Formats: sequence, C-alpha cells, structure tokens
Amino acid sequence: MKQKIAKKIKLLALLLSTAFLYSCSEDDYSYEKGTFIPAIDATNLPASFKPITMFADDEDPKFMYDKSDRWFRVNQLVQAVIKSKNEVQISLYSPVGLSDVKVYAKIPNYEKRFVLYHFSYIPAFHRSIHTIPLTEGTHDYELENGNAVTIEQIEGFANGSIEFSVESSDPLFQKLKKIKSQHLVQFHDQYHINEYGKFLPMNPVLAKEAITLMINFSYALSHPLYYETFMNFDRFKREQAERAGTEVIGAKDWHGNNADANGEYDYFTKQQIEKIYWDWLDSRTVYMAMVGGDAALGGGPLSSVWESTYVSSHWHGGVSVWSHEYGHHIGFGHSSNLANGGEGGGQQEMMAQFMQYLIHIQDLPFTDPEILKTWTKTQYLNSKNYSKPIFKINQNNPFLLKYKGEGTWK
Ligand SMILES: [Zn+2]
Repeated sequence: MKQKIAKKIKLLALLLSTAFLYSCSEDDYSYEKGTFIPAIDATNLPASFKPITMFADDEDPKFMYDKSDRWFRVNQLVQAVIKSKNEVQISLYSPVGLSDVKVYAKIPNYEKRFVLYHFSYIPAFHRSIHTIPLTEGTHDYELENGNAVTIEQIEGFANGSIEFSVESSDPLFQKLKKIKSQHLVQFHDQYHINEYGKFLPMNPVLAKEAITLMINFSYALSHPLYYETFMNFDRFKREQAERAGTEVIGAKDWHGNNADANGEYDYFTKQQIEKIYWDWLDSRTVYMAMVGGDAALGGGPLSSVWESTYVSSHWHGGVSVWSHEYGHHIGFGHSSNLANGGEGGGQQEMMAQFMQYLIHIQDLPFTDPEILKTWTKTQYLNSKNYSKPIFKINQNNPFLLKYKGEGTWK
C-alpha cells in the first residue's frame, strides 16, 4: 500500500510568504485513491445545492433576459463563478451534458492548480451552488500530475480570487475546448420591447437553439480549415472560378467598407486579414435576438435572425444570414464582402458552405437536432410548420469538392 504523503500548505503563511513552503519536489508525493472530496453527480442534487435547469422550456423568459445572471463566454461553457465568500456557482451552457468534469482552482500564492470539484456528470444547462471545500476545513486536493496537496482551511474568497479552469475526458468537451472565440453571449429584450414586430420576444426553447447555433458557429470560426480558407480567400475564389471554367466573379479577395469604384475594391493586406480573423473571435459582447419582419439585423452587439433559423436552418448549415449579421456586428457594412454576399459571394456564402461541410464530416459540437427537438415544441413557436431538419450535403459544395471528406479537426 502506498503511503500517503501529501504536500501541506499553511494558509496563514500563504498570506505572508510562500517561498519556504514549496522547497520539496512534487515528485516526492503520492496519494491513496479515495482521499479526495468525492465526485459529484449533478443530476439529482439535494435542494441545498439550489439546482436548476437553465432555459427549461417553461421557464419565465425574464430569466434568460437577465444579463447579470445569464451570460457565458463561448470558450467557457462550463462556467464557475464565486457567488459568496464560501460558495461557487457552476453552470453548463450546453444542450448536451458532460461526464467527468474537473473544475480546477488556482489560488493566490500557490503556483499549481488543483481539483476543487470533480463532477461525474453535469446535465445540459445545469446550474447549482457549491460550498468551497477550502472554507470548510483542511482537505487533500488532486494536482494535475495526480499528486496531492493538503490545503488548510481558508476563511473565504473574494470575487476573482480563485482562477477557475476546466478539464474533462468527455469527447464533447474535447471539441468545446478547441473553441477560440471569447465572445460574451447574452440575450437582450430591448429590441422587441422598443420595436415589437420588427423584433420578436424569444423564450428558453428558442434560446437553447440560439446557444447551440452560437457554439457551432464559434467552433467553425475557430476551425483550422476555416482559418486556412479565410486567410486565403483569394485562392478560394480562384479555385471556384477554375472549377466553373470562368474568371473570378466580383472581388478577388476580402475588401472593406469603402465604395467600390470601376471594379476597384479596397482590398485588405494579409496582415489586415489576419487581424480581422481575430476580431471575429475576440472578447466582445454579442446580443442574440430574433427578428419578425422581412429583414434580419445586426450591428454593434446585436446579431439577429428569424425563428426559422434558430429552429431549423442552422441544422442544415443555413447560417448565411446569421454570418451576414455577425459581419455587421464585427464592423462591416454592405460594401464589404465580409458582411454582404456581394458579387460572386463573400463571407456569408463561404461560411454557410463551410458549416455544411462540417456537418457532413460530423465535425461540429452538435449535429443532431434530436438533442433539442424544438420542431415538436409548437406551443413555444410562432410558426407551427416546422418538421425535423434533415441535412443533405450539396455535391457542389466547394469544401466537399476540395477536401473530399478530409479535414476533420484532430
Ligand atoms: Zn445587412
């Protein structure tokens, strides 16, 4: 039997100096299994954990529109936030649950992260409140290398004093972890309150679809094949023209918001294109909303599409309008092919074709509309005419023609 020798951290000393505490090598320490705080199955937590399912179908929409409470970054779908000096709120912004989730903590004056909570399972859109074990007493915690650290009781934690990070062996998490976009996602009711009809109120059923679209879209933007195509859009256009046996139609590469004169576009340099790529993935806020009229709208934080896009189209890769509005949100007008389709196609066509290719090769976090079954939830929908979205790749898809089923993000 292995002898348990855990590294000890003296908490009072933590506040003053740490130098003498960490002189031993981590490799000297091992632990016995079972000495850590046990794994938590979040499926059926007692009421003391205040468990809820966010965006439950019949939840009052006022909760999804509360921007101080419902928000997430697309690269942090398992969200941990300090709720009080001894409590952490765990939320999962995903339409599918995750197994084997380790929430790591890093506290000031100790250089290593350790497992604060281990969830054997977190259901879709789950949220619950958990006491910070550090505030309860002295415990052993698992380090990343499997070794143990003993940390003595700490009174409490201020907001931001624990740095959280998440790891999981779940294959879905391995996909979600690749998302590079740091966009902050919220729902905003100002649009339909101020201009009812042009915009329509959403509900949790639609919000779940919007979140699913946003996660898939962010994954696609982060994908190496997308980066490769975005950075070489001139080649993408040239190859399309070659296949069609024509000259390149319209702009030969990405161009900006200046009006085009005599076929002269304000083309971006490679350096500018690289910067624009990262703008699509930066940490700005996007307000998701739903339009009711003829025109979808985007600009500033807003990006909006119709109910049909949320319920159905995005499962077919129908993100052309969404990409267009997202292009406005990033800062492009109709004179740029980064928003508009323009002559010969731009970002909106390319992205829709790319999403279709990713669905075809099953390389998106979510490709099965059955996970939400929104088309069956007619009491929550304005149109009653949806059926289950069924995807079929267009054989002329430029990514299919070029990559022939290859290109999965390894
Ligand atoms: Zn537009």
